[in-house]
Amino acid sequence: MNDFIVFGQPIIEQDEINEVIDSLKNSWLGTGPKVRRFENDFAIYKSTQYAAALNSCTAGLHLSCCALNLKPGDEVITTAMTFCATVNTIIHSGATPVLADIDPASWNIDPLDIERRVTPNTRAIIPVHFAGRPCDMDAIMQIAKKYNLAIIEDCAHAIETEYKGKKAGTFGDFGVFSFYATKNIVTGEGGMVISNNQENIARIKKLALHGMSTDAWKRFSDHGYKHYLVEEAGYKYNMLDLQAAIGIHQLKRVEKYSKKRKHIWDLYNDEFKSLPITLPAPIEKNTRHAYHLFNIMINEDKCGIDRDTFLTEMTKKKIGVGVHYQAIPHHPFYKEKYNWNPNDYPNAVKFGNETVSLPISAKLNDNELERIIKSVKEVLNGK
Ligand SMILES: *Cc1c(COP(=O)(O)O)cnc(C)c1O
Repeated sequence: MNDFIVFGQPIIEQDEINEVIDSLKNSWLGTGPKVRRFENDFAIYKSTQYAAALNSCTAGLHLSCCALNLKPGDEVITTAMTFCATVNTIIHSGATPVLADIDPASWNIDPLDIERRVTPNTRAIIPVHFAGRPCDMDAIMQIAKKYNLAIIEDCAHAIETEYKGKKAGTFGDFGVFSFYATKNIVTGEGGMVISNNQENIARIKKLALHGMSTDAWKRFSDHGYKHYLVEEAGYKYNMLDLQAAIGIHQLKRVEKYSKKRKHIWDLYNDEFKSLPITLPAPIEKNTRHAYHLFNIMINEDKCGIDRDTFLTEMTKKKIGVGVHYQAIPHHPFYKEKYNWNPNDYPNAVKFGNETVSLPISAKLNDNELERIIKSVKEVLNGK
């Protein structure tokens, strides 16, 4: 299976390897100076003031919800088309998730449906910039203002994303990013929360390290011993220097990788324009897409083949494909616990049933891209 194209492969270069070795040789493995450096670099990249590096985006979503001090009965609205972590972390913070449907063209949360689902218990909205396309933030911020709701942006796909000149993750109270192995830049596992509010980030950092008052790593520095005091029951969500060592160098190449992803995006759009599949909508004016996922929709009536058969056939041709995602109401846990009826989210459910993610990693070479394009055409032509 040597020529199998693995979905979402990252590029790791010599700088990352050297930096990890440096951490190992200096015996500083945990949260230390490289985490601080990565936070500073990331805050500068996102034109924001404060950043907290964590061990995942999931941790960041959870702590952002915790920092809103949600109570049982409080409701948080998010999209029916997202990764399960967005919904699970609302549940873990003690609140009740409420789903809104997606816009059938952008595949992002539909602001009109958000407003329909607002109740007196609604406390926050978690928009997800799906595939790297910015949500309609003007409309969402207007709803947030009208009903006094907090905003946590799930930016797992949206490191490079911008909306009308403003960077994704800087619109609301918290912007949360992922450096999971398949994301646009990686640390293996890792996440970051950004905010322009210093107290917000201080709270995230405290909650990420057991609720202790002082960063533990400062206790072991040469400024003299510092006691810590536990101020609330926190979690253990800190990033390691070993992870930040990778992230520091990945971040330097974010624009380079983005250019390659855009090249693949344009190539697919061009090559597939006459196929009977649905392609991503054109990119909205005055926005920047992060090209994290290239989703197509395989409708059985139009294509003569259903989505799952397409997945099987592509895999047989040694092309790793993905499904991002089956709609949230599709999963048995949520269906049973919240009684969510898939018919209430028709656009998300249709997308979830028909979508396939094609590889768009910056690591793909021309030969591999040619194979992917040829395979898509062959499978749709029944070959
Ligand atoms: C990947 C992803 C997450 C979770 O990120 P981790 O860093 O793996 O915790 C959350 N939301 C979305 C939309 C994602 O794609």
